[in-house]
Amino acid sequence: MSMIPVNEPLLPGRELEYIADCIATGWISSAGKYIDRFEKKWAVYCGRKFGVAVCNGTVALELALSSLDIPAGGEVILPSFTIVSCLEAVLRNNLIPVLVDCDPRTYCMDLADVYRKITPKTAAIMPVHIYGHPVNMAELIPLTLEHHLIIVEDAAEAHGSECLVDGVWRRCGSFGNVSTFSFYANKNITTGEGGMALTDDPVIAAKLQARRNLCFGAKERFRHEDRGCNYRMTNLQAAMGCAQLERIDQFLSRKVDMASKYNLALHGLPLQLPHVEPWAKTSVWMYAIMLEDSATFDAVEFSRRLMDRGVQTRPFFMGMHEQPVYRNMGLFKDTHCPVTEHIYRRGLYLPSGQAITNEQIEQVCDAVHQVLR
Ligand SMILES: *Cc1c(COP(=O)(O)O)cnc(C)c1O
Repeated sequence: MSMIPVNEPLLPGRELEYIADCIATGWISSAGKYIDRFEKKWAVYCGRKFGVAVCNGTVALELALSSLDIPAGGEVILPSFTIVSCLEAVLRNNLIPVLVDCDPRTYCMDLADVYRKITPKTAAIMPVHIYGHPVNMAELIPLTLEHHLIIVEDAAEAHGSECLVDGVWRRCGSFGNVSTFSFYANKNITTGEGGMALTDDPVIAAKLQARRNLCFGAKERFRHEDRGCNYRMTNLQAAMGCAQLERIDQFLSRKVDMASKYNLALHGLPLQLPHVEPWAKTSVWMYAIMLEDSATFDAVEFSRRLMDRGVQTRPFFMGMHEQPVYRNMGLFKDTHCPVTEHIYRRGLYLPSGQAITNEQIEQVCDAVHQVLR
């Protein structure tokens, strides 16, 4: 029996044509028309003034925090339930991570916990739109205004997701002083590897541009006034991004369609299906489900049983406060995030890639039914 992969990209449009153009013209490095085009078009799509393309979403976050020049020792509040990229961005900028628990239904950061953890040292908040469901920005924005806090928005899973703020639907990626995306192969649009930082502030944009490119001197190239790194994206990657972006509406509606098929077929099982708040539109990056307490096994066993039936899944994130590497560094000794701990042990996501067929969705649902029968 062939296995249904947890994620496969779909490259059905002009990807090959644009990449062939790069090769034919020799523009294969980090300058070229596709870089400019991809940055402009993605910024416009997200309602931002500036886009700065980089080589992945992890460094996009690191560069975003760097560009804000928060003094060392400042605290950044972020969810424990996320990928290590978020925490690494904080640590690599010599800032202090303060972890918060998550909402048991949307899996996004718990804003009451954010509120509790604001101190005079808090400099920034990093909302992460988990599995495509937005953080409630209508609640978070007033909080950050009241306490003069910076928002670094991680929208790596939320291409095209929207959040209702003051009666207006706004796209994720539009909310941060700096907002970041990943275009990794399993994201809703992909460049293979890739990322971008977005901002409306020209000073921040200039820092992002300089620091992704080693801060070469403006007058004298090899005279450096600031520190940077090589985080550049190639024109080849941007070419793919341009082609993917042309089809984003189709990609998104297919994801919504996929989720409604799953919802219909899995309804009534001892599972918590994805919850979508009335103020949210999700990109359905991943179709995430959680075993209810009545199920007698955990997510590891659930995943194993699905794999036996040809269905590949991925477990939920292990909370940052439980990660051995950070515990061994002495971090998070007094951090407790009971919801994060619980969902990590009970949740996984089903095959959710662009390339999944309706037949495969049915096979996945059959397998889930068999396992939970
Ligand atoms: C994928 C992802 C990243 C990292 O992106 P890469 O391009 O893989 O480095 C960062 N944050 C979140 C929430 C992600 O899902």
